Amino acid sequence: MKTLAPGSWLGLLGGGQLGRMFCMAAQSLGYKVVVLDPAHDGPAISVADDHVLSDYLEPLGLEKLAARAGAVTTEFENVPAQSLDWLADRSQVSPRGNAVAIAQDRIAEKAFVTSQGIEVAPHLVVRTADDLGENVAHLLPGILKVARLGYDGKGQARVSTLAEAKAAFDQFGKVPCVLEKMLDLAYEVSVIVARASDGSMVHYPVAENIHRGGILAISMVPSPQATQDIAARALTAAQRIAHGMNYVGVLCVEFFVVKNAAGELQLLVNEMAPRPHNSGHYSIDACVTSQFEQQARIMAGLPLGSPRQHHPAVMINLLGDVWKDEQGRFREPDWAYVLREPNAKLHLYGKADARSGRKMGHITVLGNTVADALTAAKRIAERLG
Ligand code: ADP
Ligand code: MG
Repeated sequence: MKTLAPGSWLGLLGGGQLGRMFCMAAQSLGYKVVVLDPAHDGPAISVADDHVLSDYLEPLGLEKLAARAGAVTTEFENVPAQSLDWLADRSQVSPRGNAVAIAQDRIAEKAFVTSQGIEVAPHLVVRTADDLGENVAHLLPGILKVARLGYDGKGQARVSTLAEAKAAFDQFGKVPCVLEKMLDLAYEVSVIVARASDGSMVHYPVAENIHRGGILAISMVPSPQATQDIAARALTAAQRIAHGMNYVGVLCVEFFVVKNAAGELQLLVNEMAPRPHNSGHYSIDACVTSQFEQQARIMAGLPLGSPRQHHPAVMINLLGDVWKDEQGRFREPDWAYVLREPNAKLHLYGKADARSGRKMGHITVLGNTVADALTAAKRIAERLG
């Protein structure tokens, strides 16, 4: 892999907030970023050095991106894997199409994780209505999830009976799905690793994540609940997955922690993201090198940075709902309150339309302990409503 000196162009597929934070990190190392995205504006487009307005499958657009950028990455996990393969013949692409193809399909993802000797939630692959019969009783109540293109809890239906499962499968348009057993989660954790093309790898501390309505609400790092044993097992699993795919780039693996019948804690892989992850946003403020800077370093063939966390941190997501008062009317949140907080860092993504459930920004609160940071984060969240 060739090294790209600062001043060179890096290419990015996707113009969302992950791309925005990537642009900022790459630019602070002196790189220029060109974003390919089908929309006219977006969080990354407004900070990128250039924008190629193009569909992800359009050869002319991809050609333009590859002609400009010595290395290309993605911030959008549903970018067609074939576009990454196409780009790989013309530029340095990380992560590669094969890894993205696995991560963007729950069926392939579960099969790959299982092939690495790592457990996933009990589930059944549903390709046709005939796959749903008496055989699924042990998975009910469960969640039917579309195999592709789901995010933030979208493309999922909670089902308690076979009839409900069949109805949900119909409603999703009979696309391939997985039916997953509804688990009684003790807690959820994630591990982010950054792996360079020479196979060297660094990892971030285990984060503990609280989701509300299928959307990440809070990440606490290091995880308050994860035992040493669980943390070590999660890290080993994430490393094995990254090596197993010969992964190049930043990878997040999300886990469920459940208690089994014997009362022992069991670690199951939920899913993975072939890119920086929402549960790693705290790394901008709390680590020597952020997850976004690692992505830029890997693309440019530079040494990986230290992932060392210098302060415990709690990240809270700011969804569009924060911009609404009790009557659902628009109101500007009390930013002055947040900005006066000595250990809080506000990040807004520049999105104009504060729709309910839409990720608009996040706040990272640092503390001497995670408990301190959590107390302050809760106070801020309460004030913002
Ligand atoms: P997405 O791709 O939208 O992030 P996930 O499959 O990660 O979808 O589900 C989002 C969240 O919903 C999870 O982080 C977890 O809190 C909850 N969830 C998903 N699957 C299960 C399950 N089988 N049992 C219990 N909770 C689940
Ligand atoms: Mg998820």
